[in-house]
Amino acid sequence: MDRGAFLERAREGAELIKMHIELGHTIRIVSHRDADGITAGAILARAVAREGGTFQLSIVKQVSEELIKDLAAEKHRIYVFSDLGSGSMGLIEKYLEGATVVVADHHPPERDGFSTDSHVLVNPVPFGANSVRDLSGSGVAYFVAREMNEKNRDLAYIALVGAVGDMQEIDGTFHGMNTDIIEDGKDLGILEVRKELRLFGRESRPLRQMLAYSTNPEIPEVTGDERKAIEWLRAKGFDPEVKYWQLREEEKRKLHDALVIHLIKHGAPKEAIDRLIGDVVVSPLYPEGDPRHEAREFATLLNATGRLNAGTLGVAICLGDEDAYRRARKMLDDYKREQIEARKFIIQNWSMVDEGEHAYVFYAGRSIRDTLVGIAANIAINAGLVDPEKPVVVLADSDEDESLVKGSARTTERALEKGYHLGDALREVAEKLGGEGGGHAIAAGIRFPRDRIEEFIRLFNEALEKQVEGKGSEG
Ligand code: C5P
Ligand code: C5P
Ligand code: C5P
Ligand code: C5P
Ligand code: ZN
Repeated sequence: MDRGAFLERAREGAELIKMHIELGHTIRIVSHRDADGITAGAILARAVAREGGTFQLSIVKQVSEELIKDLAAEKHRIYVFSDLGSGSMGLIEKYLEGATVVVADHHPPERDGFSTDSHVLVNPVPFGANSVRDLSGSGVAYFVAREMNEKNRDLAYIALVGAVGDMQEIDGTFHGMNTDIIEDGKDLGILEVRKELRLFGRESRPLRQMLAYSTNPEIPEVTGDERKAIEWLRAKGFDPEVKYWQLREEEKRKLHDALVIHLIKHGAPKEAIDRLIGDVVVSPLYPEGDPRHEAREFATLLNATGRLNAGTLGVAICLGDEDAYRRARKMLDDYKREQIEARKFIIQNWSMVDEGEHAYVFYAGRSIRDTLVGIAANIAINAGLVDPEKPVVVLADSDEDESLVKGSARTTERALEKGYHLGDALREVAEKLGGEGGGHAIAAGIRFPRDRIEEFIRLFNEALEKQVEGKGSEG
């Protein structure tokens, strides 16, 4: 990607924010409700405070016309959107015409830029970046903050927590401008990247849970079953109660070897084996054994707050609030337990799935919470329930509105080679169904009326069919 041109945009965004701080205007920040969005919001908030400015921050589930209208009614002079907004450029132009707007995001944008000088799109995708690999929303916020003030390099670790929350290093290594953030953090001595086991639980979970919770990749015969995890660990000579961070280096290596051999024996796909051991980000800013010491545990803690509509608590944690951290830790256990229950449900009920020419669609009703459908779709893929070249959608009844369903679509790099773009497909289908949809090529979301599921299945398969044909005719 063209880093220089992207950074030029980040600088434009930074200058606008600084100008409004100097004018004494409150910086209105709106960010997304997952770990990536929470860290992005925290980075911007810290950067504004550092310049002596004031901010008002909201963490939201999605952008809608309602939200933008409400924001417009607040009559701020400047709005900054992070980890969202790129799919709503038209709405932003319509309702926030008179205000300054900075969109710091990594979702594939509606257009390559805004048409007025007072609105700036800071997004790496038009400069050639892969939206789920090269930079996350927190990374974009980081570069805007860095352009505001060199001192904001000390936010590099928080930026990487967001990247890990978005699975930017899902293949086992960081790419694109994520590696620039790593270099900044290493220079300052505030983070370290190790080649270790890339599973949730390095700091605060005993090994038996670290292995039993592993859904990405799955560990055959161990994932989802703590008893089997204990047996497996004992058989290999490990204490199931010990935490990964407490292992000596040679013990870690022994565990890695045993796991790799186990995966090979069970015929796990090569990609699953490749991503088991890889880049793990840790930070000396926090003590060993603290979930905030390692990026994946930190990200999961933040996701747990977002899911309970406590995203601003997550922001407070990123800004160093110890009390917020203690409150959030209690949310984490339930969150993890629910994921394991969702996995059981989807595996036991997979026969209910609708398998079309181009997609699997699984409707879970109220059995899976609407904030966990993305994880459930990835689980269907990683647990080997599906042909990995065919996208998966999991639908659940919306928590907020009984008449709606929330859906998450997920797929694999291999499927994308056929020409699929799930975000484009869901955007198109949502328009026809009277809903809202969009996202990345590999991961996207939608909400639409529950009584139109049959139609959704047909339209989604048709949209994917067109994408494959389109690719065929290109060459
Ligand atoms: O899905 P999410 O971005 O927010 O994922 C954060 C981390 O959770 C990932 O890095 C991944 O290791 C883990 N994860 C998982 N199983 C999934 C999805 C994510 O273990 N199905
Ligand atoms: O909104 P946003 O960009 O932050 O979220 C990205 C989503 O894409 C996350 O839910 C993440 O888990 C998902 N993802 C995925 N597979 C990948 C990369 C990202 O499911 N390979
Ligand atoms: O894929 P999606 O963004 O919906 O996942 C939400 C979050 O759940 C992820 O960012 C990840 O941190 C978390 N997760 C997890 N363990 C998993 C799967 C996902 O902690 N097994
Ligand atoms: O909601 P879910 O986790 O499935 O979303 C996957 C990705 O699609 C996220 O990056 C999310 O921000 C994006 N998305 C979007 N527009 C929507 C719904 C989801 O850009 N209407
Ligand atoms: Zn993101």
